[in-house]
Amino acid sequence: MHPSESNGAVYRTLLESTRAIPWKIDWATLSFSYIGPQIQALLGWAPSTWVSVDDWASRMHPDDRERVVNFCVSQSQAGVDHEADYRALTACGEYVWIRDVVHVVRDEHGAVESLIGFMFDITERKKTEEKLLSLQKELENLSFLDSLTGVANRRKFDAVFAKEWEEARRNTQPLSLIMFDVDFFKRYNDHHGHLDGDDCLRRIAQALACAANRPRDLLARFGGEEFAMVLPASDEAAAAAVAERCRQAIFKAQIPHANSPLGQLITVSMGVGTMIPAAGQDSDHFIELVDRRLYRAKQAGRNQIVSAA
Ligand code: GH3
Ligand code: MG
Ligand code: MG
Repeated sequence: MHPSESNGAVYRTLLESTRAIPWKIDWATLSFSYIGPQIQALLGWAPSTWVSVDDWASRMHPDDRERVVNFCVSQSQAGVDHEADYRALTACGEYVWIRDVVHVVRDEHGAVESLIGFMFDITERKKTEEKLLSLQKELENLSFLDSLTGVANRRKFDAVFAKEWEEARRNTQPLSLIMFDVDFFKRYNDHHGHLDGDDCLRRIAQALACAANRPRDLLARFGGEEFAMVLPASDEAAAAAVAERCRQAIFKAQIPHANSPLGQLITVSMGVGTMIPAAGQDSDHFIELVDRRLYRAKQAGRNQIVSAA
């Protein structure tokens, strides 16, 4: 046997015994001139069924196809080595994540002659990546929740309020804000104990959350025994209606406050404001304005809503 022949056999054995699947495409005819027999073990399609690049493209997940085919064609035309991840269809109708690593072979004039590549099964890696992504998402969601009451926390409020402020300015739409402060809550803690105080805050949060019913409305714990509600695309009348619903929800919850000078039940004071933000206006001033109204509700005897200047 000629040494080069035995080398050829060695190379073939090496190529066909790796887990990566080698292949070659002739650029002029866009057809496979070779694909490793391992393809059958991985995807179930016999090597003889890989004839043209259409066989490759048609066995790709429809959501990946356009992106991957366009990318690979443009990179190949430009003569640039590249790699692409996609889901390949198996003969059983399932999908396997593949990383295709492609080398562009040129002739002596620099024209593209063929593509040579390896397909790697990266299903396990993708599963791990997806798991990590979903854990990351879960952590992110948790980082926006108030651990005591389960409603959005201050971090979430800040993010949503800034976003809605910008949105309202762009669309010249009214944005409303309600600030809540529990009346005589220090006395509540003093009388019922801090743990019951925590429980009371949970019940207040639940009652207020039920009063906001549009998908973009947001109730957040602003801090301590203060809550805030962002009401996008809501004018004065809409905000007043929501504030009144909140007052009723707190009343319906019938949370005992044995030591409240206002009666035997928990009550809240509210400041309400509505604004169509103008360019360059400071959103903090709007929060301060609503906070001043909340303060006036306190001054005026608590358990009430102040919504005008
Ligand atoms: P006002 O009607 O003027 O609002 O009176 P207040 O007693 O509610 O006002 P103040 O700000 O003096 O008291 C707020 C109290 O809320 C004091 C603080 O201990 C209590 N508080 C803040 N955060 C929590 C919490 O997470 N759990 C409990 N149990 N109490 C809290
Ligand atoms: Mg307070
Ligand atoms: Mg208070």
